[in-house]
Amino acid sequence: MKLLIDSKNQKVLFAEASKPVIDFLFNLLCLPVGTVVRLLNEKGMVGSLGNLYQSVANLNTDYMVPSQDKDVLLKPKAPLTSSEIAGLLPANDAGAGDTQGSSLFMCPGRCSNYVTYDKNIPCPQQCGRIMNTQLHCVGKNLPDKGISIKGGFVKEIVTFMVMDDLVIEPMSTISSITLLNKFNIREVGSLHEKVVELGMDEGVKLLKASLQCKTVLTSVFLKKNME
Ligand SMILES: [Zn+2]
Repeated sequence: MKLLIDSKNQKVLFAEASKPVIDFLFNLLCLPVGTVVRLLNEKGMVGSLGNLYQSVANLNTDYMVPSQDKDVLLKPKAPLTSSEIAGLLPANDAGAGDTQGSSLFMCPGRCSNYVTYDKNIPCPQQCGRIMNTQLHCVGKNLPDKGISIKGGFVKEIVTFMVMDDLVIEPMSTISSITLLNKFNIREVGSLHEKVVELGMDEGVKLLKASLQCKTVLTSVFLKKNME
């Protein structure tokens, strides 16, 4: 990602970004709130959601409905994720919750309306047979692991302009000239370009800054000690 920096005011005017960066930023909108809190927890959460999250984490499971798993709240799965953004945000613990398949099973006697994901448990009706008759889904499939969007969100060939406050538009020469006017930049000499890498550290910082301020790029890439 290429930043255009006003060095006099120590401010990022805008960034020139290609598809992976835009996909990453767009994908932030798909994150469940629980995931956002979990990601930001180590680096300090804003507002009170951190306390809400911690309360769930601290709550003894004796107080929970037996069939509920706290991870549903603490490590929620995004209903949608782009497969293109791996490595920019820490993932949920690998394998957690993935031990069960997504196939549904029922009693071979078809004696009830019960279905299960676990093909080793007995039918709750009188017959008690193992519920191992696999059901076949027709129509649209909604896997419980969430839908992975292959290919991300935006087209590869377009370069985008990301403003400091995360307004994003396709890049054009005219738009950048208009912007320089808008920012009242008279001395082009005070501008310089800086190429920055977007890694997991920056990914989490971007998420955090986007919740806190309207100078996201400046805080993440120019102010090293934003805490
Ligand atoms: Zn049965």
